[in-house]
Amino acid sequence: MYAPYPYPDEALESVIARYQRHMALSDKEIQRRFGANHLGGYSYLDNLANMLACAFAQEKLVDEHTMSPVLNNLSDKTYPAFAYRYCPDCLKEQEEQNGEKYWKREWLFCGVCRCKKHGKPLMLATFKGKGFFSHAGTFVVPDDIDEDRSRPVVCSNEAARLSDRLTDLLPLPHPSDEVTPYQWRSFWLQKLGQAGYTKKNLKLLQRRLMEKWEFNGTPPESLSESERNRLTNRYSWVKELFSCTTKKGIYWGHERTLKLWEEFCPDMAIGEIRKEAAKLPPFPRNE
Ligand SMILES: [Zn+2]
Repeated sequence: MYAPYPYPDEALESVIARYQRHMALSDKEIQRRFGANHLGGYSYLDNLANMLACAFAQEKLVDEHTMSPVLNNLSDKTYPAFAYRYCPDCLKEQEEQNGEKYWKREWLFCGVCRCKKHGKPLMLATFKGKGFFSHAGTFVVPDDIDEDRSRPVVCSNEAARLSDRLTDLLPLPHPSDEVTPYQWRSFWLQKLGQAGYTKKNLKLLQRRLMEKWEFNGTPPESLSESERNRLTNRYSWVKELFSCTTKKGIYWGHERTLKLWEEFCPDMAIGEIRKEAAKLPPFPRNE
């Protein structure tokens, strides 16, 4: 049976979309075989893996063609957002090299907002003859993009830096260790403690993170006290870390880990961080 092989870093959704196109199958037929397409959901993984079984193991598909390994390495237990985004320069290169275009896995993940290779913001795709969200549930190829109606993703400097960090992590395989949310939280509390931060000076910590992440360390002098406070409040999530009600550990998103990592232990690899965290008690004592 024919099956298109995934290109390096191609999203799994994209492999199915190309299959549909190559075989000229209707939306209905493709949904009968794979179910509806929910970006980042991978409910069709088993069926796709069966189709590619002679060439690709399922683990390889997950490791090299989804964002799951990156998110797992960062202990992200949330349900992050996915959408169709693309880099026009990369698409051009793909077409020249392969004669067709495909979606890269990191484009569809909303934490990534720019192409590191071309240094440009990604474009949010609108599709020909379709309303903004009317492609939901179906599989689309980049040839369906309506370039005139697609717009660049608005991306702050801060978001761009986080985005580059995420793309750096793409080559990582799925972590082989288990780190509980409680261990993850304890690790970061330990790091913050070593840097002199406790429950009592949270405002200082919030301000430090604000300065680092909003202004690269030095906020402009023109910034008024109220603006400063407004920005500092964006880091109120650090309160959660120290809060007694989250004794069991918190399920936090990847961007919080990235921000603390970069500020408090930039020289540690994520694997080292996980190894250190795994040495801590997995669950609260006395419970
Ligand atoms: Zn590019």
